[in-house]
Amino acid sequence: MNSIINRFENIKSLINNSNVKIIAVSKTFSYDDISPLVEHGHLDFGENKVQEAQSKWVNIKKSRPNICLHMIGKLQSNKAKDAVRLFDYVHSLDSQKLANVLAKHENLAKKKLKYFIQVNIGNEKQKAGIGIHLLDDFYYYCVKELKINIIGLMAIPPNNSKADDYFKKLMELNKLLGLKELSMGMSSDFSTALNYETTFVRLGSSIFGSRTN
Ligand SMILES: *Cc1c(COP(=O)(O)O)cnc(C)c1O
Repeated sequence: MNSIINRFENIKSLINNSNVKIIAVSKTFSYDDISPLVEHGHLDFGENKVQEAQSKWVNIKKSRPNICLHMIGKLQSNKAKDAVRLFDYVHSLDSQKLANVLAKHENLAKKKLKYFIQVNIGNEKQKAGIGIHLLDDFYYYCVKELKINIIGLMAIPPNNSKADDYFKKLMELNKLLGLKELSMGMSSDFSTALNYETTFVRLGSSIFGSRTN
């Protein structure tokens, strides 16, 4: 069997929970690298750059409309229009300006996406995400004013720290808002995230191998 499918099936059996969706993060890999997993029937793929995702997925999506594309990286407002056209989920909603532009393009395209609000859970200057103290206001702004579909919270915990505390905190914030989905856990820490009710894990290198760029 193809090694990508082997690794994928191993991880799936490790997770052993049908409530947890695996997003295969295919950023930097070519479609030829990824295609075995598409042929295998996997449907959820993650990318972090709009342009790269367009060149890789626009045609595939036409022939395979069941594929769900997840935008997991920093999204600039000037890319929002293209993002709305291509993606089904955005995991990195992190500012009011971006939310405004996404809502506008949803209306123009008559298409609704599903969103995770990215939370700066470790309160790190270099990281994107809504600060915890601003989360309530931002959430209600998105839902009440813009009427966009927020399904959960997403975070990337600080490096070199115990992920447990951050995943637990994000789970609690998600519950306070009454949200059902949680996007947390990458190759290095997804097994920890599983202990805190995550529903979407974003896995790149553990499926496709290490990235060279
Ligand atoms: C690249 C990336 C991932 C996947 O990382 P791996 O360590 O390869 O699993 C997950 N989430 C985000 C936001 C990423 O940018």
